[in-house]
Amino acid sequence: MDPKFEVLKTVPRAGARYSRTGRLTFQRSEFKTPCLFAPTVRGAIPHLTPDHVAVQPAHVAIEDYIGARGRPSDLLTKGEEQFSKKATALDPLRKSPVLLGLRRLQPVPPAQANSNTGVGIMTTEGFVRLEVPDFYKYAQNTDADVIFTPIDEPTASQDGIPGKTRSQKMVKRAIDWWDALPSTLRHKAVPPAVYGQGWWPQDHYLVSLNTDGYFGLQFATLKEARSRKRKADEGTPDLDENDNIDSLIDIEQIVNRAGANRKPLFYTGNDVHTPQSVLNLVQLGFDVIPNIAPVQASNSGSAFIFNFEKPSGKLAINLWEGFTTDMSGISPDCDCYSCKKIHRAYIQHLLQAGEMSAWVFLQIHNFHTWNKFIVDVQNSIEDETINAKIDEFVAVYGDQDAASKFLAEISMNAILPRETK
Ligand SMILES: [Zn+2]
Repeated sequence: MDPKFEVLKTVPRAGARYSRTGRLTFQRSEFKTPCLFAPTVRGAIPHLTPDHVAVQPAHVAIEDYIGARGRPSDLLTKGEEQFSKKATALDPLRKSPVLLGLRRLQPVPPAQANSNTGVGIMTTEGFVRLEVPDFYKYAQNTDADVIFTPIDEPTASQDGIPGKTRSQKMVKRAIDWWDALPSTLRHKAVPPAVYGQGWWPQDHYLVSLNTDGYFGLQFATLKEARSRKRKADEGTPDLDENDNIDSLIDIEQIVNRAGANRKPLFYTGNDVHTPQSVLNLVQLGFDVIPNIAPVQASNSGSAFIFNFEKPSGKLAINLWEGFTTDMSGISPDCDCYSCKKIHRAYIQHLLQAGEMSAWVFLQIHNFHTWNKFIVDVQNSIEDETINAKIDEFVAVYGDQDAASKFLAEISMNAILPRETK
C-alpha cells in the first residue's frame, strides 16, 4: 500500500506559515501529525527494545548495513522484503513504519567527500563512498515505508553552511540523484528541498518533482536560510543581484513550487535539541520531526520534566549528582513505567555505578515525555490555542537558544570528570 497523508486542520500564525494537524497512513499503522520519528542505530532505538516503546515511525540508515570496502549486508541484497523484521529491532508486528535514509540522522562527517554520483558514509571499518544508484537498489530490496532520497550535505564548512558554488553543486546533484531514482520508488520518496539562491536550476528541480510525483518533501537544515536571513537583517546580505532574499527563507515558496501543499513536510536536520525547536518547526508547518533530544538527554543522564499543558518549573534535570536522597519519581506529572516504579535517588545510584539500566529507565521516561508533548501539541492545534500556548511555554522555559544553553550546561556538568569541574 502506498503511504498516504491527509491535512486535517490548519491554524495560521500572523505573518508566517501555519501549524497543522494531519493523518499519515502506512500499510500497518496510522499516525496523527505533527508526529515525531525515532532515530535508530543499526535498526534499534538506543537503550530501548520494542517492548519499551510505543509504536512510532523510526529512521533507519542504510549506512548501518554496509560493511568493509562498501560491501552490503546480505539483508540488503537478497530482496526478501523482510528488512524491517529481520534487520531492525523495531516492533515485531512491523507497525512502526521504517523511514529509510542513506546516512544516519546524526551522521559522522565523512573523511570521504561526496562525488557527483556517490555519498561518503561511515561503515564499521572506515569511510567509503556509497553510489546513489546502489542505495536505490538496496532500498528496493527492503520493505521500507518511506525513502529519503540522498542529500549532498556540505561537510567542509564548519558551520554546515555551504558557500555559493557549493550550493549550486548541491542543486545539480539533487537533480541528478532525483533523476536516478527508479520510478517504482517514487510513490514513497521524500526528496530534499534545496536552497538555490533563487537560481533557475532549483526552480527546474522543484517543478520536475511536481511533475514526477513523490510522497513528501524534506528540509534537511534551515541553517543556510537562517544565516542568510541574519546577514540580510544585519545589512550585509550574502547575495548577488539575481538573488531574491525571500526565496531563501520562504519555505512556503519552495513548497508551492514543488506542489507540496497537501504533502507531508519532513524535517531531517540534526539540530532539534529542545522542545522549543520542535515548536518552531511546527509553526513553520512541519508535519514529521526527528525525536533526537530524548536520546541526547538520556545519554547525558538528563530527564526532561517540562509540561506543555501547564508549564512550570524546569525544562530538565540531570540525575548524575545531587539526588542521593530524593525518593520522588523522575517527574511528578509523569505516569511512565520509570516514574511509577523507581525514584530519582535510584537512578542517580545506577548512573554512578555505570549500570546500563540507568539509561534504559531515563530513555523510557524521556520518550514518554516527548510523546505526550507532541500529543499536547496536536490537541492545541485542534482547539486553536497553539500560538498562545507556545508563547506561554517560551515565557516559562525560555526560547530555543536559552533552552539549548541550559541543556548543554546541565549535561556538561555531568559529563566532565570531577577534577575538571
Ligand atoms: Zn516518567
